[in-house]
Formats: sequence, C-alpha cells, structure tokens
Amino acid sequence: MVLRHHSIERLMEQLGHLPGVGPISAERMAYYLLRIEQSEALALANAIVAVRESVQTCSKCFQLDAVDPCSICSDPERDQGIVLVVEDPREVTRFEDAGYRGLYHVLQGRVSQVEGIGPDDLTTGALVQRCKSGGVREVCLANNPDLEGEGTAQLVAERLRPVCDNVTRLARGMPAGGSITQLSKSILADALQGRRPLPPPN
Ligand SMILES: [Zn+2]
Repeated sequence: MVLRHHSIERLMEQLGHLPGVGPISAERMAYYLLRIEQSEALALANAIVAVRESVQTCSKCFQLDAVDPCSICSDPERDQGIVLVVEDPREVTRFEDAGYRGLYHVLQGRVSQVEGIGPDDLTTGALVQRCKSGGVREVCLANNPDLEGEGTAQLVAERLRPVCDNVTRLARGMPAGGSITQLSKSILADALQGRRPLPPPN
C-alpha cells in the first residue's frame, strides 16, 4: 500500500472541516488542487489568508467588516434607534440592497433542538445588553420564515421583552419556509415596510 504524502492528508483533513464536505469530496478537492496551475492554487490560499487577516467581527452588532465597530454601527446618518436582528452576516448584505438604513444585530446562528443550540448559545445576551444600555426604540426580528427561524424569533423575543417594549417581526411577502438570502430585494423591502408587533407566546 502506497501511503499518501502527509501534506495531502493534512489538506484533506482541513477541507473535510468545511460545511457539506465529507471525506470523499475532501479527497477530490485535494487532488484537484494538486492538478491545477500552482498560481491558481496559491491564489486560493492567499484569498483565505487575506480574508482572515482583513475581516473581523464587529463587537457591537457581530457583522463582518474591516473595522470594529463596523462602518454601519459607526454611521451617524443611519437610524440608531432600530435594530434588525438577522441570523447570518450574509443577510446584512441583502437588507442593505433592499434599502434598510437602521442598525443590525447578527445572532451568528439559529436555535436548533437537533444541534443542541439554544438562544443563549447565540449573541442574544449581547442584544439584551444593547437594549439595556438605551437608545433602542425598536428591535425587528428578521429571522428566516421557516420553522427554526420562527422558533428562534420567539425565544429571542422572550429574552427581549423585559428590556424592550417594541419587538417586531418581518411580515408581508415572506414565503413560509423561504430563506432570506434567496429573497429578492423588493420582497425584503416590502417585508420591512410591513413589520408587525410580535404577539406574546401562548
Ligand atoms: Zn457593527
């Protein structure tokens, strides 16, 4: 049996940590990277290094930017009184495209019973602190309109109720089971317009 070079094994192991990549895909990717031009493979490696060195998480809203606090949190032109709560930093881009000009709070995930993730495993505590420190007029929960997103919104709302009396949820036009990252900007703009108070849990 011919053993693989340890550097190939190491690359496969690292690739195998990527979401949705199992051992067979990791092996295929590793051998693909050995087959392409060296410059192309190095460009990929350099892009990974560059993104990790230049992008950081905002300590206030947890979105990604080159500076901390991020350019959105420190923009005086934006409405500082409304905080739109999203699950993932990619969703910030979608709402920016849809014309939203308030602040954000990125939960960095969603509540999932299957994965054992509760509201306190997300950035919920930091959101409660933001409300406590004042200046927040409305918190709008823009979680995805699917089962886990609705569940996350309800649990985050429970944490917020003692510190914020205006918790809203996106409404119109959001197809049940849909994903924010796949919705058009006109649908998101409409959902922002039609946000509604979140009813208390039964
Ligand atoms: Zn920020």
